[in-house]
Amino acid sequence: MLARLARWLRLLGADTLYDPALGGAAMLARARAEGRVMLTRDKRLRTAPDVLYLESNDFRGQLREVMRRYPFDRSKAGLSRCSRCNCMLVEVGREAVVRRVPAFVYASNERFAECLECGRIYWGASHVERMKREMERIGL
Ligand SMILES: [Zn+2]
Repeated sequence: MLARLARWLRLLGADTLYDPALGGAAMLARARAEGRVMLTRDKRLRTAPDVLYLESNDFRGQLREVMRRYPFDRSKAGLSRCSRCNCMLVEVGREAVVRRVPAFVYASNERFAECLECGRIYWGASHVERMKREMERIGL
């Protein structure tokens, strides 16, 4: 239910676990064990400590709620964390990705980073620009 929010939080650089297979109680236990805040739309958990209940149904509203309550440094947004698996990205040289990204991407970007877990390649301009536009739209 919060998959899109989780992807965005990761793109913004926040360490974000997302595991739809875990039930509410298991998720809360894991969050507490790891010193995390649990984000949920489950009203029953609204008053629990270490839980942020999200009022909004859509990811933009949810992102706004999270950032309002837990502002974090977004200066490394875009090339720091894999949106798919939450791992930290490693910067790689252009030559390392020449055959792994579309030619126009290679030609128009200087900085690339790779997720060593899933192999996904991220690049500067388009990801970061898209994110900035989205943040402006959200009003953050
Ligand atoms: Zn990954």
